[in-house]
Amino acid sequence: LFDAEPAPWEIDEAELRTVASVVLPTGPKGPFNYLVPESLADPAEPERFAEAGRRLRVPFGRGDREVTGYCVAVEMKRVDARRLKQISAVVDSRVLLSAAMLRLTQWMADYYLCPWGQVLEAVVPAGVRGMAGTREVKFLTPADGALEKFKTLKLRSPQQLKALETLLASDRPLTIPELAESADCSLAPIKGLIKHGLIETAVARVATGGGAEQKWQRETPLEFNPDQAAAFESIRTALDSGEAKGIVLHGVTGSGKTEVYLQAIEHVAKFRRQAIVLVPEISLTPQTVRRFRARFDRVAVLHSHLTDAERHQHWQSIARGEVEVIVGARSAVFAPTPHLGLIVIDEEHETTFKQDQAPRYHARDVAWQRAQAESIPLILGSATPSLEAWVRAQQGEFEKISLPKRVMNLPLPDVMTVDMRDPAQTRFGRGAITRPLHQAMVEALRGGGQVILLLNRRGFSTHIQCPACGFVLKCEYCDLALTYHRQHNTALCHYCDHEALPPRACPDCKSPAIRYGGVGTQKLEEEVKSRFPDFKCARMDVDTMRQRGSHDNVLSAFQRGEFQILLGTQMIAKGLDFPNVTLVGVINADTALHLPDFRAAERTFQLVAQVAGRTGRGKRGGRVLVQTLNPEHPAIMAAVRHDYPRFAEHELAVRRAAHYPPFTAMIRVVVRGPVEAVVRETAATLGGRLKAAIAAAGIPRMRVVGPGTAPIARLRGDFRFHLQLQGPDAAALRQAVRTAAEGFTPPEGVRWMADVDPWDM
Ligand code: ADP
Ligand code: ZN
Ligand code: ZN
Repeated sequence: LFDAEPAPWEIDEAELRTVASVVLPTGPKGPFNYLVPESLADPAEPERFAEAGRRLRVPFGRGDREVTGYCVAVEMKRVDARRLKQISAVVDSRVLLSAAMLRLTQWMADYYLCPWGQVLEAVVPAGVRGMAGTREVKFLTPADGALEKFKTLKLRSPQQLKALETLLASDRPLTIPELAESADCSLAPIKGLIKHGLIETAVARVATGGGAEQKWQRETPLEFNPDQAAAFESIRTALDSGEAKGIVLHGVTGSGKTEVYLQAIEHVAKFRRQAIVLVPEISLTPQTVRRFRARFDRVAVLHSHLTDAERHQHWQSIARGEVEVIVGARSAVFAPTPHLGLIVIDEEHETTFKQDQAPRYHARDVAWQRAQAESIPLILGSATPSLEAWVRAQQGEFEKISLPKRVMNLPLPDVMTVDMRDPAQTRFGRGAITRPLHQAMVEALRGGGQVILLLNRRGFSTHIQCPACGFVLKCEYCDLALTYHRQHNTALCHYCDHEALPPRACPDCKSPAIRYGGVGTQKLEEEVKSRFPDFKCARMDVDTMRQRGSHDNVLSAFQRGEFQILLGTQMIAKGLDFPNVTLVGVINADTALHLPDFRAAERTFQLVAQVAGRTGRGKRGGRVLVQTLNPEHPAIMAAVRHDYPRFAEHELAVRRAAHYPPFTAMIRVVVRGPVEAVVRETAATLGGRLKAAIAAAGIPRMRVVGPGTAPIARLRGDFRFHLQLQGPDAAALRQAVRTAAEGFTPPEGVRWMADVDPWDM
């Protein structure tokens, strides 16, 4: 019994073989082992060398089906070769993912509870995977001893000799047409040399075309003020230490953070290393992008409008180390830099750094992981740091650097609230602009200044309601009120884009008095135009900004003073620097305050503080009026006083008491499907499994909240229920989800997902 014979292959057939571990982008998780045939295991043949970080074609499943997978390791292993299949081909002629990037993606798969293959597929852009914009080209190199061999040829021509000598003299491999041109000969002699083995050929993929580089006006570094100089010194120390370090750069709006990044990157570039700069959204930060281009020769700007071919070209030149700075949105954190020296996240508090589809990663956390792996600093810059970053700085895990003042001793703007509960202020015609805001606009415009108005709701009216019976027109597929868009006379769902015809009468009680309530940016635009007919006004929201370059056009025109009033959603609150803006009006500061989200107060503070920062950047100074129904709310009061530390202290106390992040880890599980009862039941089953997993593992201080209906109870036709896992030990939470998921198959049509460190509730 104890002496059971080992399986025959364990003694005889186990041999030491080269084995590749392959992860598939979809389907079963793997990694799967494959034998590497000798023809694909020769490093001297770099075009077809099977190594970690390239993709391979492998047989999979029954028949002769083949799939493409990512090779994550190649090792010598003792295996039963008969049980393994062989790799069929090497797809990539060079490594797509370095060892460090493979480890990073593996960490993401583990941390964000998703298959490794799914992460790999998200990290390598589609254009790179499809090798868009490339073609295969034959490159020529002279064979060893080519000249001696040439002398032994029976038939040899002077043209051949010239071609061979030209190739020998070239310091790089040439293509056939290039050689023909340089040697001034036809193709025939070259082909003859290839045929006789005097010239060797190799096929490589090269980029087609290649965009002309625009020349940018160069700018020189500014002289630092003392605060900037001190900040820079700390950063330089971190850069020179050769160690990973998280740095929270808390600088009020206009304190010169960008200048500090720029000079830190100049320091990095001196050592021929690269820097990655993450910005919330490229199209909203044209000024920042321009400043990087004006300071560095080789900047890659990764924006969402790139074609696959352009993306592939960028990827390749980044991988070759030809780029000094990469500026991009969250996915630029995966840029394949050979010697990364620094990562900067500008406006690190922004929600766009969290990806809202799988893999649901947060660029800040991925960047920190990468910074640690590469032993480099990570700078998190913001006027309103995320509480996650702030707590780490307070606990000494990250370094905190402050720029408490604006540059050139410019004062921060005066901020005042307008209490919308006070009828004396609000009863001022119909509309969204109160009397004090109207007067402030008159003064600012008469004084030659410009005005920014923020309203975080697009559309014309935000709901369509029957005053007789209270009916609200909702999306057929989502549990959300439809927004009226006047331009196309349509009622639109902002979540699923479903359009409905606005009803003439109430569908419930047939009352004809249906009302279009609530103010969206379109209605505000009409109001502004009728109140200020002598001034020009432009609106910026996703409805007006659908075309490539339209942000930049509007912002440049505003900068040139072609219009005086800019109104829009939160997209106008971000990093803009217009010295002539002397007034900012926040139409309704409360839009985010009552969201069913534990970050509601933080978002409100950030929005008000950020938009307030858009004014007072010139000699004329500036002021801010904040219309609100909650002037005593701590988030609004702190924003009015430009008092981030006060806000953070208050809000952190609230979070600590309520066991919310950043003091506890959180995973949100959402279950959805078309039949409400089935979804509810599945959520309950999953909840039971999660609780059982926690109990079995004996994890202390961990809890499962729910299941309950999700804040958006119905979305795109699916009913939604959710659960929250909370506890001090993030790894234990993840393990509980894995245990609960094991062997769990939801009923047909029902799907579930886990969101680690969730943002949108
Ligand atoms: P932030 O990124 O903190 O909002 P910026 O770096 O954009 O601040 O700086 C705001 C403005 O001040 C920019 O126009 C910038 O050119 C200018 N600025 C920055 N640093 C200095 C400095 N040391 N001296 C003069 N002007 C500066
Ligand atoms: Zn009605
Ligand atoms: Zn909808």
